[in-house]
Amino acid sequence: MSLSATDARMHTINNYINGEHISPVGGEYLDNIEPATGRVYSNLASSDHRDVQAAVAAAKQAFPAWSSMRASDRSALLLKLADLIDSNLEDLARAETIDQGKPLWLTGSLDIPRAATNFRFFASAILQNESSTHDTDGAFFNYTLRKPRGVAGLISPWNLPLYLFTWKIAPALATGNTVVGKPSELTPMTASMLCDLAAKAGLPPGVLNVVHGIGSKTGAAIITHPDIPAISFTGGTTTGKWIAEHAGPMFKRLSLELGGKNPNLIFDDCDLDAAVESTTRSSFLNQGEICLCGSRIYVQRRLFDEFLSRLIAKTKALKVGDPLDPSSNQGALVSAAHRDKVANAVEQARSLTGKVHCGGGIPASLPDRCKDGFFYEPTIITNLDPKCPFEQEEVFGPVVSVTPFDTEEEAIALANGTKYGLASIIWTRDLKRAHRVAAAIDSGVVWINCWMIRDLRTPFGGMKQSGVGREGGAEALRFFTESKNVCIAT
Ligand code: NDP
Repeated sequence: MSLSATDARMHTINNYINGEHISPVGGEYLDNIEPATGRVYSNLASSDHRDVQAAVAAAKQAFPAWSSMRASDRSALLLKLADLIDSNLEDLARAETIDQGKPLWLTGSLDIPRAATNFRFFASAILQNESSTHDTDGAFFNYTLRKPRGVAGLISPWNLPLYLFTWKIAPALATGNTVVGKPSELTPMTASMLCDLAAKAGLPPGVLNVVHGIGSKTGAAIITHPDIPAISFTGGTTTGKWIAEHAGPMFKRLSLELGGKNPNLIFDDCDLDAAVESTTRSSFLNQGEICLCGSRIYVQRRLFDEFLSRLIAKTKALKVGDPLDPSSNQGALVSAAHRDKVANAVEQARSLTGKVHCGGGIPASLPDRCKDGFFYEPTIITNLDPKCPFEQEEVFGPVVSVTPFDTEEEAIALANGTKYGLASIIWTRDLKRAHRVAAAIDSGVVWINCWMIRDLRTPFGGMKQSGVGREGGAEALRFFTESKNVCIAT
């Protein structure tokens, strides 16, 4: 399963249905482009409803045996899969970097290890969950059964490909569902490699099925399939709306993890060194392509100039370069279209009132191999109206705005001033204020004096247009199971 750049060029990614890699029924394929070079390096199945139908049929057939398997046996298989991810870390990390554009040090230290952790976490969680009972006046006894829902439809985005795909697959399988999943068409490689590892771990055919293709065709066929009762989706808010409109009338269970425009509030009593260091990371890690990145930075006026100049200095020191080069802090954006979207957002901000302090273009010096890649400089903009499009819409790239505020009330109003409510970050040494502001901000996740600390037991998800439902820990176990109350006369 080794994937050197040369091997990958020859690689065709097919669907994985009923334990086999098979060609799409329609025989159509899409190009798969390496973002760092801009070159096609493999191709992938462009599936339609017939492929989804075959995957659903396989998943339905596998469901009775998988769902009735002892939890400890399912757990053992998933733990084996986690071990196989660990032992293939180097190959998976390299494949993810070539496919997505992010630095190899990041895929090796974050994306792939987290994929293994996802399986380990839910493999052990199913051995420890509790069910509830209710005694009714000594005359009746109620107990709650939790049963897997059946075939789960799982759709994930391109920014953290294996990390987010397995964040859905692991709880779905652990609780006894079978899966029809689709990774983003832009980043299909590690999902395909995962299927081989699942077979090696001993997962029975049909338990995990992966169909590749574009969202509006393959993804839509999953969303609207009548035999998929539960959909877990991570992606953009516009796609989420489409899914809700189509899956809602079918009464499907929906988990929607959507976009964000996360505020980062820097109060003037904060630990400035830590705030600058962490804000550089929360702005630009993974090229800013993390739904949890803080893209609107609000700084209390007394600290504004110093914070800004230190953030600019740190940002200018970031090296944008070949993601395979260990010294690159930032790699390529995922596609030419996305790079252009980021560039246009910056140009629009500049054409309004925005002042660009650093970045704002394509890096001047890139290695030869990368001269046609989709790179963009880390960019800091000030002087924007909070109501302008740059401040209201998700850009999802290495660009942030910095704006001053005076009072706590103003900071909260600015933080809550968009349609999104995914994550927020607060920097202050005043604990009372930290708790007060955390409670007042409309976001599903709040970090105080830290960022991206993820305890997998905690609920994860967004408010307002950042999503519906929560992932993580008990929330995920509940989502993928249906509760049934049984009442017996005693
Ligand atoms: P998209 O919404 O474009 O796509 C997400 C996935 O949905 C892809 O696999 C895509 O397929 C598929 N898809 C697209 N249209 C449909 C459809 N009509 N029916 C079913 N599936 C469809 O998002 P991006 O891939 O561009 O990802 C970036 C977005 O994801 C950002 O908005 C980001 O904030 C959000 N995100 C949210 C997170 C969270 O936890 N809240 C975490 C990470 C990202 P294809 O790509 O093949 O077209």
